[in-house]
Amino acid sequence: MHDAEFAVIDADSLEEVKVAADKQKAKRPDYEGDGYDDDGNIIYDTWICPNCGKRYEVDYDDYAYCPKCGQEIDWRKDE
Ligand SMILES: [Zn+2]
Repeated sequence: MHDAEFAVIDADSLEEVKVAADKQKAKRPDYEGDGYDDDGNIIYDTWICPNCGKRYEVDYDDYAYCPKCGQEIDWRKDE
């Protein structure tokens, strides 16, 4: 059994590829809310870049790409 060497993987290269792929992929923002509406539902007024953690205002800062780090933001709602 000498074919074991074909299974050797360079973990460092793999990690670099993974990071590069992550950056190109749109990510959903995280949301944060500090108030409630009349029905007791939380109102999300802040969204947070999933890549760098920068906070933005919902309804005002609707960037397709985070201005700070360039992360593409996925605004699709899965309903
Ligand atoms: Zn960012």
